[in-house]
Amino acid sequence: MELLYKSTRNSDTTVTASQAILKGLAEDGGLFVPTMIPKLDAGMDELAGMSYQETAYAVMKQYLTDFTEEELKSCIARAYDEKFDTEEIAPLKKEDGVYYLELFHGATIAFKDMALSILPHLMTTAAKKNHISNEIVILTATSGDTGKAALAGFADVPGTRIVVFYPKSGVSPIQEKQMVTQKGDNTFVVGIRGNFDDAQTGVKKIFGDKDLEKEMASAGFQFSSANSINIGRLVPQIVYYVYAYAKLYAAGDIKNGEEINVVVPTGNFGNILAAYYAKNMGVPIRKLICASNENRVLYDFLGTGTYDRNREFILTTSPSMDILISSNLERLLYRIAGEDDSKNRQMMEALVKDGRYEITEDMKEKLADFYGNYATEAETADEIAGLYRKTGYVLDTHTAVASRVYRKYAEETGDTAVTVIASTASPYKFTRSVMDAVDKKYDAMSDFELVDELNKISGVAVPRAIDEIRNAPVLHDTVVDAADMKDTVKKFLGI
Ligand SMILES: *Cc1c(COP(=O)(O)O)cnc(C)c1O
Repeated sequence: MELLYKSTRNSDTTVTASQAILKGLAEDGGLFVPTMIPKLDAGMDELAGMSYQETAYAVMKQYLTDFTEEELKSCIARAYDEKFDTEEIAPLKKEDGVYYLELFHGATIAFKDMALSILPHLMTTAAKKNHISNEIVILTATSGDTGKAALAGFADVPGTRIVVFYPKSGVSPIQEKQMVTQKGDNTFVVGIRGNFDDAQTGVKKIFGDKDLEKEMASAGFQFSSANSINIGRLVPQIVYYVYAYAKLYAAGDIKNGEEINVVVPTGNFGNILAAYYAKNMGVPIRKLICASNENRVLYDFLGTGTYDRNREFILTTSPSMDILISSNLERLLYRIAGEDDSKNRQMMEALVKDGRYEITEDMKEKLADFYGNYATEAETADEIAGLYRKTGYVLDTHTAVASRVYRKYAEETGDTAVTVIASTASPYKFTRSVMDAVDKKYDAMSDFELVDELNKISGVAVPRAIDEIRNAPVLHDTVVDAADMKDTVKKFLGI
């Protein structure tokens, strides 16, 4: 059966999966959602024996129904290959009674590789399928990790170009170095004077610019988005929740049907939304635990039913979660509003106009699947140090936020269900903050000295992604005001 996609702001028109992937955002500014969330058609006993790639096929085929088996399997094979440093792709590590699902074994050592290593293949396949001859221009705003993961995914992929905007003072030194050293003639990296929301708002404006769209088309280009609003990002992320459950079952750590909790360090709400989809597909998940840093807009929302972005933007040691507008939340809102597009549209308009909106009591009740909390900077550092001293395992700052929030949840509720924490980055990606949390004595060292120290204390090999940038030359040094983003893109495309 063909699964179609509709916009959260207009339920009437539908597109195929490949069209939704190509468009990224719907014409009306809404996000594409499947007209229904399918139930897993593979049984747990079957899934328990599957490799990551086989699980990916079993899940993704239910969403991307206009891809042939051959197309989808080829995309999967090209994505989840030796770019990952382990055959398991997403291994589970049990530490101090909790399972950390390590999603950082790909090319850029953060979880965004899980989706961005397959998205370029889904996109070029989708382009062929829809007889598109334009070159696809990927435009992305990043709070750090998306940028590099998208660059790595799209670099030198024929028929594509990629432009990445990042907040010049809002990413870690290693994140920045990873991006500005990116090779590939089709890549372009630009720093913005402003924060992530400025970059994201700028990108959305460019996407909505009809005149630019015409100019682009006559020059043989069309935009697409690699941001987490693209359904081609969301669907591959559902896979690892199914996989984690199946592996726990295969190892005898849970019984078939036993409920687990899932904890996700959250920014744009993409990763946790994928877990929500997994739950709706039938994976027995009790609570979806949404962990925020000091930018606790989601914690406040889940507690009060009011989303309010009118607050100070705080730069934290978990920069990929420094977000005040969680774009993917719109997909959840639409669903808990009973797929009412006009209700959703009103809330999104209020968000633009007033920076806030309120949901109804009815909708609030449907948030019962979620638990939200946050960790302060001090708590995050303490979590890294504490777990390291107890077990020798070193968390990155984002995962540490999740780990601390899980502790708060367990204390508050007494819930002892098996719990999986999405481990979203390697500690090597945020070495300075991680080592500072372990011991202040490291503060005086250079970034790469810290890498070697982290290797010593954790015993985890230095990832290729870090070794590669040690001596790599800076290839991108453009910095612009957020207001000049459009001109910057035009210049890059030569139009
Ligand atoms: C992007 C990112 C997050 C947040 O994920 P969302 O899907 O935006 O909620 C958390 N941790 C790391 C390391 C990330 O790169």
